[in-house]
Amino acid sequence: LLSCENVRKTFGPTVVLDDLSLEVDEHRVVALIGASGSGKSTLLRCVNLLTGIDDGTIRLDGEDITDPRVNPDLVRRRIGMVFQSYNLFPHMTVLRNITLAPEKVHGRPAAEIRDQAMEWLGRVGLADKANSYPDRLSGGQQQRVAIVRALVNSPRLLLLDEVTSALDPELVGEVLTMIRGLKEEGMTMVLATHEMGFARQVADRVVFLDGGRVLEAGPPEQVLGDPVEARTRQFLARII
Ligand code: ATP
Ligand code: MG
Repeated sequence: LLSCENVRKTFGPTVVLDDLSLEVDEHRVVALIGASGSGKSTLLRCVNLLTGIDDGTIRLDGEDITDPRVNPDLVRRRIGMVFQSYNLFPHMTVLRNITLAPEKVHGRPAAEIRDQAMEWLGRVGLADKANSYPDRLSGGQQQRVAIVRALVNSPRLLLLDEVTSALDPELVGEVLTMIRGLKEEGMTMVLATHEMGFARQVADRVVFLDGGRVLEAGPPEQVLGDPVEARTRQFLARII
């Protein structure tokens, strides 16, 4: 479904993604792990066309989305992205936060989006918060709203960047449960995380990035439990 081929990304003299190739099959969950600065967020941002690449190709359903003739808004409609800081607009209700972009950017009918938003909120137990403002919600609730916002265009692919990192430990569980539910429904996801427990629980494949390259990839048991590369072992020894 997603295919990154020999992607290179630089910021000035710094090479952040270096000849990086990665395949994500439909209905699969891939966890990106690696030290701070290894390029996890940059890779997600490149896939969502928030930043351009210097070389290589990124394909979504076979289409080269890094072709300059591609309309980024149409690509982003097919890709949902959620960040560590949920980025909800404080002066808008939960429902408005969810419906704004599909309505304004993607020009979809308001009633249809609203119904979809309410359905998702109901599924994650937040229907009664639809007309609340974000500051009345817990961090875990806000993050679930941010995930609903990313889902309301029915994306082909969901990108999650450290979605539990800003949460108090007791609120992490409800977000993980939601992500596990999405996995069971077959959502294809790529997530960057520092939490190896999370990666182990939800990922079908774990990809270890080191200096903008894929150093090692495989099933979680293998990469997290019995890594081949010395650098992967060092990384895991430091953080666990
Ligand atoms: P973390 O685990 O801390 O989130 P990460 O793996 O997500 O790290 P990135 O945020 O992708 O890492 O950063 C990779 C490298 O790219 C870092 O060296 C960072 O300083 C650099 N970088 C990222 N964004 C920019 C930018 N807009 N301008 C210049 N350098 C950048
Ligand atoms: Mg990051």
